[in-house]
Amino acid sequence: MRAQGYIVAIDGPAGAGKSTIAKGVAQALGIARVDTGAIYRTLTLLALERGLDEEPKVVALLDELDLRFRGEQVFLGDRDVSLAIRTPKVTAAVSRISAMPGVRNGLLELQRRLGRADPQGALLEGRDIGTVVFPDAEVKIFLTASAEERARRRLKDLEAAGERTTHAEVLAAIVARDAYDSSRPVAPLVRAFDAITVDSTGKTLDEVIGEICGIVRARLAG
Ligand code: C5P
Repeated sequence: MRAQGYIVAIDGPAGAGKSTIAKGVAQALGIARVDTGAIYRTLTLLALERGLDEEPKVVALLDELDLRFRGEQVFLGDRDVSLAIRTPKVTAAVSRISAMPGVRNGLLELQRRLGRADPQGALLEGRDIGTVVFPDAEVKIFLTASAEERARRRLKDLEAAGERTTHAEVLAAIVARDAYDSSRPVAPLVRAFDAITVDSTGKTLDEVIGEICGIVRARLAG
């Protein structure tokens, strides 16, 4: 395996299991993990709290985005926002905020800095890592699963968090968010031409983690 820092990009739609899988893969490979969705979510939380939704005002908020990752926790300044950024309210608003070109531009540098911070390398998960943030990433994975399965998983997570909702509601929200993320003019959710597609439908977490680690090792060895 290459000793120098390398970048693994994992992109894909909502609910494909990206976060859990990314965590497992990064741990197995011994590299840092950057959840770029958490960055967009934190900015969205801040915008909602301030009642701002016009692009120039949201872009101005980027100066206040004092964001830190500590393990699995996300901090905005001294405040632990790990739970607050995953509420349905933030989830419903995040696609609109992240479709703003000024927001995407403003967050590019931060994502690149986080990706290069660890000399071992890093795994970044998101929607446009392999296409825009790190187009020259050593390994690019497009992680997907059927919408039905993604809705089932998301429903389980939401129920575990005490949210009251239904499969149909979650499925509709997932389909809507995919459509929004895939059709925005700037950095839409698309598979990079050189990404390897991994479909997690019907597979266990360990199977998918093993499959991706295998792809990374083969790429780095070749
Ligand atoms: O991955 P997660 O579901 O937490 O991402 C939340 C939202 O953030 C996505 O629906 C998408 O709108 C946005 N996002 C993005 N680009 C990324 C990561 C997330 O636009 N690289």
